[in-house]
Amino acid sequence: MVAPNLPDYTSFTSAFSWEKEKSGLSGLPDGQGLNIAYEAIDRHATGELRNHTAFRFIKKDLSVMQCSYHDFMELTNRFANVLSELSITKGDRVFSFLGRMPELYFSALGTLKKAAVFCPLFNVFGPEPIFQRLSRGDAKVLITTKDLFEKKVRQLLERLPGLKFVLLTDIDKDENEKIRSLPRMMEQASDEFSIPPTNPEDPALLHFTSGTTGMPKGALHVHKAVLVHYVTGKYVLDFHPDDIYWCTADPGWVTGTSYGIIAPLVNGVTNVVDEEEFDATRWYSILEKQKVNIWYTAPTAIRRLMRMNIKPGEQYKLENLRLMLSVGEPLHADAVIWSEKMFGMPFLDNWWQTETGGIMIANYRAMQVKPGSMGKPLPGVEAAIAEVTDESLTIIDEPNRDGHLVLKRGWPSMFRTYLHEEERYNKCFRGDWYITGDLAKKDADGYYWFVGRADDIIKTSGHMVGPFEVESALMEHPAVAEAAVIGKPDQLIGEVVKAFIVLKPDQKADDNLKMDITAHARRRLGPAVAPKEIAFIDNLPKTRSGKILRRLLKARELGLPEGDLSTLEQP
Ligand code: AMP
Repeated sequence: MVAPNLPDYTSFTSAFSWEKEKSGLSGLPDGQGLNIAYEAIDRHATGELRNHTAFRFIKKDLSVMQCSYHDFMELTNRFANVLSELSITKGDRVFSFLGRMPELYFSALGTLKKAAVFCPLFNVFGPEPIFQRLSRGDAKVLITTKDLFEKKVRQLLERLPGLKFVLLTDIDKDENEKIRSLPRMMEQASDEFSIPPTNPEDPALLHFTSGTTGMPKGALHVHKAVLVHYVTGKYVLDFHPDDIYWCTADPGWVTGTSYGIIAPLVNGVTNVVDEEEFDATRWYSILEKQKVNIWYTAPTAIRRLMRMNIKPGEQYKLENLRLMLSVGEPLHADAVIWSEKMFGMPFLDNWWQTETGGIMIANYRAMQVKPGSMGKPLPGVEAAIAEVTDESLTIIDEPNRDGHLVLKRGWPSMFRTYLHEEERYNKCFRGDWYITGDLAKKDADGYYWFVGRADDIIKTSGHMVGPFEVESALMEHPAVAEAAVIGKPDQLIGEVVKAFIVLKPDQKADDNLKMDITAHARRRLGPAVAPKEIAFIDNLPKTRSGKILRRLLKARELGLPEGDLSTLEQP
């Protein structure tokens, strides 16, 4: 097995500098700046990796379409020329509303070549969330399919005067000046394109993150972020030449862009893209047939795999798999232990968020894993636990104390604003520190442990209870498949802990089981923290990216307004 790129965390971190790592990028020729698309494609396509496979697109029927770095350079050049034809210039916003098909990937990088800003939308949004994002994001161009356009977009056109062009991936002729045929334009465009000078601080990507209430927030990222994509690809995802890598996230979420497009290409590996949604046997057979070496997925999928009666290590030939990683939600210790049993290696948890643009805290291949911990800060990133008030921030030095997870400003992929919401952006900072909105603790060995979103914390009988701790204990019960807890206002003790539990398929939801789970939770957590109420439900409400929406459970429980539900997954 190849040696890890990061062999020793402590010595590597103390010697780390962003400046030094920059030498792994090329920069635009003739000192013309830094452009994500050049780092991801052109420098490989014009060098040794010219004929290397950049993408393997897996279709619904499991057939595979391969695309080399050189072919992908030509496609992205053509797309950049299509944008020129439409007089799109630097900083203009180009949106996609597509499934995971080649057009999504070449339009993303073609847009970046043009130094315009790309914003991918998840293809199951309904008309209103699409409208909100296109209008708040000042979209000039939208790329979509005829079907999605007719069902969800045409009705919005009158309300979107700034949207100048809609490029449809599957019509042969233009409908009019505005609604055009992408295949026709691609065919007529030249496959040569020269990337304009790009400042590392030029905007590149726009990602909407769901606000807890009200409007989605648009986090804006710049070209310089590519340094974090490169570094995390190398040291967290541990990319080596000839690796075959699969990130299961959709580019509609930041993981699917940072790690489903940019990081693997910048590091010159082969990127597997599956057009279909989760399906356990399909996923295992993709790992086997595509001989995947590195697999990046999310706890929601891992929990679903855990529920199935499949032993992947025995039933599939997975000898090429070297590394498995998880992001997006807390990865319970249970899941880490399960993966060690099933695959002979642990899922490595890592933490980051839309605003950070790339992985900030991680378990590294060569580092000992403490199941349930998010790991240690990325070399070059300073993290801390702090007490935060409206005006001040005080770092907590003592180990194992809960507090706000904060990051020292200045890592290259830090978001540069919330679109049209400068004040909201400024509120995320106290001096040099960025407040992530998550609570965590750091142990004496420097490992970080997730406690919960600050918004989800429960205050009960003078205790601050993180949902993760309670949910982890509940998930240890053999009947429990998934759990989410909330705080319910209570006159006597502030809030009572209420748990919503999804049972494993063969379990009977009755009072005996409720009592058994309660007893287990009390043993594990003590009576003050264990749930006082338990409800069995069929499904937990989740975002389409797989995050449990505790605030929605709470709103429903209390009969409060449900807030922005544009990212809610429909069961
Ligand atoms: P988003 O910006 O939508 O990607 O959501 C980011 C949020 O997801 C973080 O602020 C955390 O609350 C949660 N999250 C992501 N990764 C992890 C992780 N490894 N452990 C715990 N929570 C996580």
